[in-house]
Amino acid sequence: MAKPKIVSLNFGNAGGSLAQPFSCEVQRSKRKTLAIYISHRKVVVRCPLRASGLEVRQFVNANQQWIEKRLLEESLREKELLRIEKGGKIFYRARELEIVFKQGRKQRILISPDQFIIQGHKLNAAKARIQVEDYLIDKASEYLLPRARGLARHLGVHHKIKEIKLRKTKSKWGHCTSAGIIQYNWLIMLAPYSIIDYIITHEVCHLVHMDHSRRYWALVESICPRCDQYVDWLKQHEHRFWF
Ligand SMILES: [Zn+2]
Repeated sequence: MAKPKIVSLNFGNAGGSLAQPFSCEVQRSKRKTLAIYISHRKVVVRCPLRASGLEVRQFVNANQQWIEKRLLEESLREKELLRIEKGGKIFYRARELEIVFKQGRKQRILISPDQFIIQGHKLNAAKARIQVEDYLIDKASEYLLPRARGLARHLGVHHKIKEIKLRKTKSKWGHCTSAGIIQYNWLIMLAPYSIIDYIITHEVCHLVHMDHSRRYWALVESICPRCDQYVDWLKQHEHRFWF
């Protein structure tokens, strides 16, 4: 397929009614309809090769409110991104805790009702970050791995597991291949246990059904009732876990 032609348009110039000016990338390709995509503060309009400039502008104008709403949501989310720094905030097990750096010989992480205390020797932001990473990886090995195997055993599919990997991925919580390799993102250890259990269940059930069919979701539901609320919770909060 030919590479889409990219043109940039600016919206919200002088006299415009926009709260926030934005620029918009127009990508023409062999498609039939116009559509708008937003990610990383970029607005992209995908449109057919033949769509006129006017058509594109009208389409963007008609969707202006939606675009603005999405851009605003994105910037709010960006403010909530996790930064491991002194005095920062961490959303841990659905509570917002203050990050505290504590000097001490022994490296450890202590969690109090309102503080997430990182203790270490000559602690700085870079060291603290590594400590939090190690902490979450340890927690994932302790909790997530045995539970995933236990559930697989319960479902009679343990023999299908070739390997369970723990990795930090860019946007996914888990993955399961038909070759029996399951992958979990250890950042999930920042979430409440009910959410972690849902993620464990989601991937292990793929060893039974390699799809998202009705049968698959019925199995997930039987282990993790009302899992739709966990899916929603993640959609709403997951952006706060990546660092
Ligand atoms: Zn899935």
